[in-house]
Amino acid sequence: MAFEGLGERLQATMDRIKSKGKVTESDVKVMMREVRLALLEADVNFKVVKEFVNQVKERALGSDVMQSLTPGQQVIKIVREELTDLMGGENQKITLGTKPPTVIMMVGLQGAGKTTTAGKLALHLRKNFNKKPMLVAGDIYRPAAIDQLETVGRQIDVPVFSLGDQVKPQQIVTEALDHAKAEHLDTVIIDTAGRLHIDENLMNELKDIKGIANPHEIMLVVDAMTGQDAVNVAESFNDLLDITGVTLTKLDGDTRGGAALSIRSVTEKPIKFVGMSEKMDGLEAFHPDRMAQRILGMGDVLSIIEKAQANVDETDQKELEKKIKDQSFTLDDFLAQMDQVKNLGPLDELLKMMPGANKIKGLDQMQMSGKEIDHVQAIIRSMTMKERENPSIINASRKKRIARGSGRSLQEVNRLLKQFGDMKKMMKQMTSQKGKKKNPFGNM
Ligand code: GDP
Repeated sequence: MAFEGLGERLQATMDRIKSKGKVTESDVKVMMREVRLALLEADVNFKVVKEFVNQVKERALGSDVMQSLTPGQQVIKIVREELTDLMGGENQKITLGTKPPTVIMMVGLQGAGKTTTAGKLALHLRKNFNKKPMLVAGDIYRPAAIDQLETVGRQIDVPVFSLGDQVKPQQIVTEALDHAKAEHLDTVIIDTAGRLHIDENLMNELKDIKGIANPHEIMLVVDAMTGQDAVNVAESFNDLLDITGVTLTKLDGDTRGGAALSIRSVTEKPIKFVGMSEKMDGLEAFHPDRMAQRILGMGDVLSIIEKAQANVDETDQKELEKKIKDQSFTLDDFLAQMDQVKNLGPLDELLKMMPGANKIKGLDQMQMSGKEIDHVQAIIRSMTMKERENPSIINASRKKRIARGSGRSLQEVNRLLKQFGDMKKMMKQMTSQKGKKKNPFGNM
């Protein structure tokens, strides 16, 4: 996970100052020296570090802090606020046009994650803004770029506009916009060509496309793993194209995080999204305040709650409650429930967002990869529909067949059936208490 090293160092520094009843000027200076080193080591741009350190120092040495009853806490609050400010303050949303179509132009170097992010954005806009997006294949140079976009489009069921690789991107974009209007598709996301390095021809082409498409959003996609390079790339693209927002990809990797902390300050353009996986649902809105809390080990409970909410469909929830109430909950429903739990993402990543999680020793080593869930699901999948609906018909020979089919042991099959039986009993008790309709899996 990104920021691990930086988080650890900053937290150790903060811990030392937290409990101090009195904070002297030299305490602040020592602390800021450590903060400075931690930031530099995380690959934060040195100019950004200098400014940050000066800003915190100035505020921390103010008389209102030094004379307060809890100076240590005040200093930490200042670090948190400044860290939040550094990353852009409030979450900045994607810019949508008032009249359709909204045009979003994706730019960035090859391999940064443009094509993937184009798909993720299309899904995000459809899901959260009810938009009807269309993807445009504007990268005619990289072999297989068009195929890749078409694959992404199929995956999320979003149309892809392409004229092959023999037509100029400028022409493709012009025709794509007409097509979107004719088909009443209200959001056009243009995937453009990337190179390994910034070159003049590419930039001229991108400027042309900008002139033709008049985009509401020019989204620069940069790879967080490239550290300082990401910041340089952002600066160049911004100078030439005047970008409107940044998506920082691969933040799920173990990047030191410097790019996330420098880009806003260097370009004065907001990071709007971060990429947290290769999958189409792996795009998250970037919240500087939450990220600052996460870095400082204060946890990010809001993100956990949002993740959970995004994964529970309201109609599914109602249906589940009804099934529990009228005792028709089957092993097949159980299977579906487990999918929802899995959709929240790897459990260990989720746990790391909890306040104080960094202090729990051995959390990294814990096996919480959802493997057990996979085993239980394999067992249920080896049952016939009849068995899932009515487990009481599962006799010894059926159990053997299920164990063989799922590659699990007989004991595991027995354990699951017993647990499911117990669960049904519990549901019965719960629903017999009038008015109580709680989801018994809420704590899984
Ligand atoms: P493009 O050349 O800029 O269009 O880049 P691609 O969209 O082809 O992405 C390059 C590689 O990075 C692909 O293997 C993607 O699956 C991967 N990738 C993109 N975004 C993310 C992310 O947020 N996390 C991870 N782990 N991989 C990503």
